[in-house]
Amino acid sequence: MSPAKINFELTGACNLSCAHCLRDRTLKNELPLPLIQKALKQARAYGINRVSFTGGEPLLYSRFQELAESTVSSGVQFALVTNGILLPRFTRLLSRPELKPGLDRICVSLEGPDPETNDPVRGKGSFKKALQGILSARSRELPFAIKFTINSRNYQKIEEMALLAGKLGAFELQLAQLYPTPQNLSAGLALPPGQWELVQAESLRLRDLLKLNLIFSAGCYVDENFPICGHLGMTEYYVDSRGWLCLCCMLAGVAGRDSGKREKDRIADLRQTSFFDAHRKLMDRIIWFHKKRLERIERGEVSELEHYQCLSCGFHFGKLDWLKDFPGTAWEDLFQKARGGRR
Ligand code: SF4
Ligand code: SF4
Repeated sequence: MSPAKINFELTGACNLSCAHCLRDRTLKNELPLPLIQKALKQARAYGINRVSFTGGEPLLYSRFQELAESTVSSGVQFALVTNGILLPRFTRLLSRPELKPGLDRICVSLEGPDPETNDPVRGKGSFKKALQGILSARSRELPFAIKFTINSRNYQKIEEMALLAGKLGAFELQLAQLYPTPQNLSAGLALPPGQWELVQAESLRLRDLLKLNLIFSAGCYVDENFPICGHLGMTEYYVDSRGWLCLCCMLAGVAGRDSGKREKDRIADLRQTSFFDAHRKLMDRIIWFHKKRLERIERGEVSELEHYQCLSCGFHFGKLDWLKDFPGTAWEDLFQKARGGRR
């Protein structure tokens, strides 16, 4: 089992405007540095020694250097999840002898193995710039991985993506499935249900064939009725750029954020609550969720939708109601069946 870690959304701001982005583009909050340091100090008391800095774009964080230095000097390793555009400006800093040993990995997101596939989703010129970022990391021997989110326009490019990752020297290729949202359903980017399993099977075939270090991010389709990801197993925590401990980044980003409605996946405001108290509340919420799932298993009501891990959370945490606006789509059909306790 991997050691526990906290993911901090450093900022809501980003220098790209990807078509499938989950974040609310109006939110440009920055997480106060003292809040991160305080939360980390408390979390360190029970052995957490890994963090991941995400966004928005984490390299836009105004106090990035101070943050990286204080994180490493407190004995914590950090990973960066970036779009890679600003990476060439930071690789010198990251390769300094006092920081490099504390850098766990740089994870660069790409939507395809070429500009023709990547740029329509992530923006014109973004493939070339992200590649420059990757090459800059490689030239300084910084560990990097590539994150590839599979959508309806790139799912046939997994093999090319895997070959590119290998050629570039990425130590890992992370595959994620595009979570359906109003934006990406309207744009025709979300893969329909059923296709996810085919994509996963093809990816596993490639992994074995190419001897690739290929992993699936949380959220993929699973056969079991009671799957547990890092967040539900409390080996992974997530703090959003407003300073809230939330269940995870997937739910925090989807429709409902700042809608005025109470969001069950937003647990506690760390500006007012200690990490310990927030953690207690998180435990209660996770137990509530697990009990709900157990009841459905007992009654034989687990629906097909609930085998898509993140959609199962989205369903139980009230974050899929927007699907009502997409009648006749396969995802809406699964949603209605889940509501009726049907498969
Ligand atoms: S790089 Fe990430 S945060 Fe920025 S717009 Fe794209 S998906 Fe959103
Ligand atoms: S939505 Fe649920 S399954 Fe997906 S990452 Fe979050 S907690 Fe895990």
